[in-house]
Amino acid sequence: MGSRSFLTRRRFLGRASLSITGLSTGGIVLNGCDSPPPERYTQADINALATQREQEQQIRGKSIYGEHIYDGYRGLAALPWFGLDDAGQLLCIDDSIPAPIDVHCHLGMSVLFKPELDLQTKTPRVRHLLDCDAASPGSPFDLDIYANGNFSEEALSDLRAHTIAQGLWGSEYAATQTIPNLLREMDSMRVDKALLLPIKLGLPFGDTLTEDWRDAVTSMGHTNRLHPGLSVYPGAKSAIAEMREHAKRGARVMKLHPTVQRFYPDHPEAMHLYNEAERLGLVIFFHGGRAGIEPESSHPFAIPRHYEAALQEFPNVQFILGHGGARDGAAMLELATRHNNAWLGIHGQSLTRLEAMIQHTGGERLLFGTDWPFYHMGASLAKVLIATQAKGREKIRKDILRGNAMALFSSF
Ligand SMILES: [Zn+2]
Repeated sequence: MGSRSFLTRRRFLGRASLSITGLSTGGIVLNGCDSPPPERYTQADINALATQREQEQQIRGKSIYGEHIYDGYRGLAALPWFGLDDAGQLLCIDDSIPAPIDVHCHLGMSVLFKPELDLQTKTPRVRHLLDCDAASPGSPFDLDIYANGNFSEEALSDLRAHTIAQGLWGSEYAATQTIPNLLREMDSMRVDKALLLPIKLGLPFGDTLTEDWRDAVTSMGHTNRLHPGLSVYPGAKSAIAEMREHAKRGARVMKLHPTVQRFYPDHPEAMHLYNEAERLGLVIFFHGGRAGIEPESSHPFAIPRHYEAALQEFPNVQFILGHGGARDGAAMLELATRHNNAWLGIHGQSLTRLEAMIQHTGGERLLFGTDWPFYHMGASLAKVLIATQAKGREKIRKDILRGNAMALFSSF
């Protein structure tokens, strides 16, 4: 329907890349034609991102919550809900907080050539992909900008290098992004359960994060707290069969990433997957909107209006729009409020934007997420606690941190 009819299969099958950060390493070239149809990506779309960046700089620290810049994640100990443990790590000390359910987590990745990575090992500290606590004092973290705005140029190039390393010789960051380390951080932040979102990268081999994460969680016996999801590559012949197999083994949520997997969320090949998701009772978790650090060539895939047909044509499928639409948050919020099968992940949004989301929705269908191990879980938790501190927002706090996720995943 509508804009979908402009698409051709040729344009759908873009180019896969080994990257969650937007650095194309080549991947499988399925097609050399990369330029989007004009209605897919307009000058207005380009301008909207530039405007978002400008406005964010102008208004940071100027909401009712004022400035919130901390010396690393440990610096969040200055907030009333946090302190430091004996090792000097951030600790949530307020036991009145509803135990959060984190709907947006990952583990360290080993793909392609599958470099050595033991997901069951414990190390003294986690190296988050934005490792704000590496030095003392920590590197500054501003709660009132989109989260990835806290990456310096140097940290971004580190991130790209480590992403490639995860497919080749192994990343020293990934080596710390393990199940015991995740559980330790969950305990320290009083997080009850976490959804693990693998991604199918479309690689010629070594593309088994769904299986690897599920097997590691199962063999450690943590299936009550960690819920591994599944991912398939849209357009792959085996996608439907893989969905069935993973669902049979207990996955409840399917992660799809329009910019990394380079597909339009309303393409017929993708719609086909939602149809099967409905049959299997799977929730779809989309990466939503433009993060701004991926290559511009992948921006067209994540423009909010391209998500609408999925929401509209599959009213019985529940869709989580990750990052609340990232830097397209305003348009994504508007879209989500028109569809009651749309849920917004809050991860990454600034305090100012989180406040807008709460005002707009009353907390309905907002979901707590942290994007661990990109960031410390405390960063997302702090924002929710600040934005729900006011009297009368107790229920909103509970809904965002826990209640909405419990309603969405009733068997948790
Ligand atoms: Zn993520």
